[in-house]
Amino acid sequence: MKVLVAVKRVVDYNVKVRPKSDGSGADLANVKMAINPFCEIAVEEAVRLKEKGVATEVIAVSVGDKSCQEQIRTALALGADRGIQVEAEGDLQPLAIAKLLKAVYDKEQPQLVILGKQSIDGDNNQTGQMLAALAGIGQGAFASELEFEGDSIKVTREVDTGLQTLEIKLPAVVTADLRLNEPRYASLPNIMKAKKKPLDVLNPADLGVETASKVKLVKVAPPAERQAGIIVETVEALVDKLKNEAKVI
Ligand code: AMP
Repeated sequence: MKVLVAVKRVVDYNVKVRPKSDGSGADLANVKMAINPFCEIAVEEAVRLKEKGVATEVIAVSVGDKSCQEQIRTALALGADRGIQVEAEGDLQPLAIAKLLKAVYDKEQPQLVILGKQSIDGDNNQTGQMLAALAGIGQGAFASELEFEGDSIKVTREVDTGLQTLEIKLPAVVTADLRLNEPRYASLPNIMKAKKKPLDVLNPADLGVETASKVKLVKVAPPAERQAGIIVETVEALVDKLKNEAKVI
């Protein structure tokens, strides 16, 4: 079984991002970039499937400019077999990404596509769902456990009412939630080996995909500064403040 894993290059989750002074976007100059944490979990799951003998090949795909090859190499160091970069400049909308991933899906014909549930920069939580719709296949979003049974996959999802288990016929799209697994660290020998693994570069035009956006980013602004808290002496004083100052009760 071939598994395709989508990995996105994002600002490292430890970095405090600041907007540019003109509000046109986040200031990414000299900022540490990394593989999106949910994509790292997706890669880990695909690699575990290969180690269990369920998957035969794991392909890591990323859409972006040349710099996203760094994240593809990280996925290769974590255990993916080969990589695909789909060349794209600028910040593409989830629909464009999903269309490009659909073209790669058609080309590679994987039985399973694993994505992160969400990218931590855009917080879109759309790409996996759109890809499943475009490909006309089933989806298990926010997976916390996967289990294979013949030509189906059982996906456990944490929902408000408890744990929901879906059975989805393959091929399928799964998006990885936080508790699906704990990703490994890439060892130095594996980082070295990853440099020699194959990495193909595809162009949106070759894939026949139009990526023009219908959405325009208007402004990026920092959130309002949090006010310092106060300690109230009595419950009556608290109720008074909630009623007359905060006006929330
Ligand atoms: P989003 O819909 O932007 O929150 O992203 C959800 C998931 O879609 C990510 O965790 C990735 O697995 C995948 N994805 C989003 N953007 C890209 C990209 N540029 N390249 C590869 N995969 C992506």
